[in-house]
Amino acid sequence: MVTELSDGRPKPETDDAAPAAVDLERIAAGVRMILEGIGENPDRAGLRETPNRVAEMYAELTSGMREDPTQHVIPLPADKHDEMVIVKDISIASLCEHHLAPFVGKCHIAYIPKDGRILGISKLARLAETFSRRLQLQERLTTDIANTLYEGLQPVGVMVVIEAAHTCMTLRGVRKADAKTVTSAVLGGFRNDPRTRSEAMALITGRND
Ligand SMILES: [Zn+2]
Repeated sequence: MVTELSDGRPKPETDDAAPAAVDLERIAAGVRMILEGIGENPDRAGLRETPNRVAEMYAELTSGMREDPTQHVIPLPADKHDEMVIVKDISIASLCEHHLAPFVGKCHIAYIPKDGRILGISKLARLAETFSRRLQLQERLTTDIANTLYEGLQPVGVMVVIEAAHTCMTLRGVRKADAKTVTSAVLGGFRNDPRTRSEAMALITGRND
């Protein structure tokens, strides 16, 4: 569907406000070609539904492309809570954009509220999920979450740490099965105050298990 701008020019189809819907048939056709490419018979009984199943899976794993992450950053009316808030161990599952291979891990979010503005814990998890369910780089995923939280909540500071295992590293190539990649994004007060930053880092990494 092509809509027109008021001056008559066709509107670009990659308008941010309305991301394209998933074309399941097209994904399935591509998966069928992968099966043929590796020398399989896509029509044998075990594989017959595979292209459709994989298409559904990719639709789900990229559903965050079709969501607005800022919808999750609605500050709660709260009393004056100005102490650091840390939410640890938010499970994330994303897709590396270089290999379309999953990377899975934990996201930790710390922030220092300003003027009592806080965010429900489930909203932080939803924010991490919306950005995870896209083709990502772990570095970008980390800064996307931090920037959106920083802009939407306007806290004193934000710190996001992600630890993840990339199947493109653990299952192939150098096959470092236990290798984890750790990325962090530090904004506002955490950036200027090394003591607060190390306090948050200690709370994030000092696990009980
Ligand atoms: Zn990769």
